Amino acid sequence: MKPTYYLKKLKELSKRYARAQQIPLHKARDAVAEILGFSHWHDVTKAHRAGWTPTKEHVSAVETLLVEALPGDEAGGPRSGTFIGDSIFETDIQHGTIDGHEYTIATSMGDVHLHGTGWHLQVPEAPYEEPRLEIAKQIRHEAPVYEAAFQQEVLNIAIKRAQQVRAGIASDWPRRSTKPDKDGFVRHPIYGAVSDKWFCLHCEASITGEQIAESLWHCPRCDASPLDVFESPWWLGEQDAQPEPIADNEMQGRPELVVDVLDTRLKLELDAEKVTLLIRSALVEDALNVSERLGALFADIFVHDDNDVCITFDEDLWPEHKEPISALAVAGHLGINVDKAFCLRELPFAWPGLGGHTESTAEYTQTMLKAYANQRAD
Ligand SMILES: [Zn+2]
Repeated sequence: MKPTYYLKKLKELSKRYARAQQIPLHKARDAVAEILGFSHWHDVTKAHRAGWTPTKEHVSAVETLLVEALPGDEAGGPRSGTFIGDSIFETDIQHGTIDGHEYTIATSMGDVHLHGTGWHLQVPEAPYEEPRLEIAKQIRHEAPVYEAAFQQEVLNIAIKRAQQVRAGIASDWPRRSTKPDKDGFVRHPIYGAVSDKWFCLHCEASITGEQIAESLWHCPRCDASPLDVFESPWWLGEQDAQPEPIADNEMQGRPELVVDVLDTRLKLELDAEKVTLLIRSALVEDALNVSERLGALFADIFVHDDNDVCITFDEDLWPEHKEPISALAVAGHLGINVDKAFCLRELPFAWPGLGGHTESTAEYTQTMLKAYANQRAD
């Protein structure tokens, strides 16, 4: 390997570190110099001119610095600009434990999710949006999720991950998107426009270049995504109120953890459609031949407001004396009453009795087709 290769590599790593940490390049280079045993980057280049070259170990030490700032596979990869693409549907789920209680941590669409038994913590990508801890009401005793110390520990893990995600996104964007120039101009990371003033389509806030870079292009007031931040409020007419600037004291960092306790158990809401489905399934079970099965499928099932049921059978398809035993059993479990009625309707096929001799629909179909074909002219 040429001696200049490692120096070039160090410069590239410094650049990525600067973007990831949203710090000026000279600061990133000084951080790298420190790892190499120098006090400033200037001393590194001076030493290099005098014949010093970094070793492979030096380069890996600097890579470690970057690895700590970035999540998972992004740090080691030689390509740039891949973090956002890779992390939209990140499949990398990691496992861990807190005081013996297991959890998983994953990132989805930039948000960090920590899942434990009966709880879920979400730290949104937007830096000013509150973290939210959902606790399933019914499992109070699975983990000490109601204790402040446990909640804090969970939050720390998720926030650290969120910072890595943030660093990964920043390292993907153009440098000018996360580091305003001396006049406060920044480049939109997606649309590419450059301005020192930005506008939120949602809350119509006016945001400075420094503020929008600081909040990673999410609206600091309403957390709208970078896609809704524009360099001009093009949606406003002349008569509309002018956008209101965001005061610096609104930029207070992430709000406190919000805890929601929810009963997450699935509840059965019995309605007419569900009652009908169960009753019809039972009727099919009660049917002994094709004719009765068609009768079960064709029966009119009416569900009253109190879920009591009236089943109207076609007397050509369902024998009048036949008790729908399974359907009555289902009704018993549901605690509802069943009324039976009979009617004569026009049926889909002639000669309904043909289905009374077989359990096979194929056989019935064949017989029925034959009967249609063999009709006499009169
Ligand atoms: Zn907004």
